[in-house]
Amino acid sequence: MALITLEDTPLPQEISAVVLEEPFQLKYTKIPMWPLESFNDLNLLLVKVEVCGVCGSDFRYYQGENPWSQHTLGIHLDNPPNIVLGHEFAGIVVAVLGEENRKWLGKRVVPICSKVCGICEYCTTKRAHLCENTIHLGHGQGWGDLSYYPGAYAEYVPAWGSGCYEIPEKVSYEDAAMMDVLAVCTHAYFRANHNSELPLLIMGAGPIGNGIAQVARINGVKEEKIIILERNEMAIRIAEKVGLQKIINTANKDIAELKDEIYKISKRKIFSIFDGIGSDFSFDLGMKLLDKGGTYVNLAVHNQKIRNLNQMQLSSERNITTSSNFSISAYEHAWKWLQAGEFILDPWYSMVSLAKIPTIFEEIIKNKQEKPFFKLIISLSNIK
Ligand SMILES: [Zn+2]
Ligand SMILES: [Zn+2]
Repeated sequence: MALITLEDTPLPQEISAVVLEEPFQLKYTKIPMWPLESFNDLNLLLVKVEVCGVCGSDFRYYQGENPWSQHTLGIHLDNPPNIVLGHEFAGIVVAVLGEENRKWLGKRVVPICSKVCGICEYCTTKRAHLCENTIHLGHGQGWGDLSYYPGAYAEYVPAWGSGCYEIPEKVSYEDAAMMDVLAVCTHAYFRANHNSELPLLIMGAGPIGNGIAQVARINGVKEEKIIILERNEMAIRIAEKVGLQKIINTANKDIAELKDEIYKISKRKIFSIFDGIGSDFSFDLGMKLLDKGGTYVNLAVHNQKIRNLNQMQLSSERNITTSSNFSISAYEHAWKWLQAGEFILDPWYSMVSLAKIPTIFEEIIKNKQEKPFFKLIISLSNIK
């Protein structure tokens, strides 16, 4: 297996990267170039990273959690040392392994950040996003023993040709790098089988909640039927900036007060509920509001029992479910909408250099500061 590179782009032997050496130990450092040939997969190619989004889950890996395994396998798996975080990225293909991928050389791409096995019972029965043999960028899943686990908080990252999408001129790298988030939002929205005539409730208006609201709007739900709960002032402002109208500030309100306020807007029970909090509080509130035949989707699965669930709360065909990763079909819907300019994403972004990332994580987690950004985007070429 030999690397085929772009003629005018010699590859460095060392690259800058942010490495999670162990929980709470994040370091901006040099690591060896990814040994693409040794990963034994002709489908791999090498992307020079232009931008990489900082995901909420990255803060959980930082603290030793494993959100992928919690959401996909329903168990906690310990993370290996030396993970290069980062799975929301876009860039240029600078090297490929196999002839079949030569067509990608020099192209602006957004790659899907994982690869499923294709042969297990999940992959062969249209549930590939639940594949237990997934290989994932940005955390250790599926790679076996490596010195460094590939991710896109780095100048270069490996990705799979089979999961690459070419970015058209009119789409920015930043917007393209949001594809992972937007696919997660689209998948979650589809999980609810929402009837666009009926109200829906989103608890938590971070990027995922904001994105689900936008997916709902793209699918014909009127803004006055999209009710959002949030207490963070910045997230509320950004929800307003993207045109959302029914935002309830939850600060210092109890369940009864919130239920009344939501009812004032919806005038009825809620058909679809998207819970990005996953607490007893949000579940109790959700159960008080969930309409007959409606669906509650938990997007923040924690290792805890559901308190006070009475079987009667499931009566009249109410569904309680979760949403994990995304299906390719959800991804492709989101990709079509992004290219058509249907998402409003500019108000989301704060740009930062790779070198500043360890300090930012420390300030937010160790010093417990409010996040001073809504969606942080690492820029590899524009910000030094
Ligand atoms: Zn993410
Ligand atoms: Zn599989």
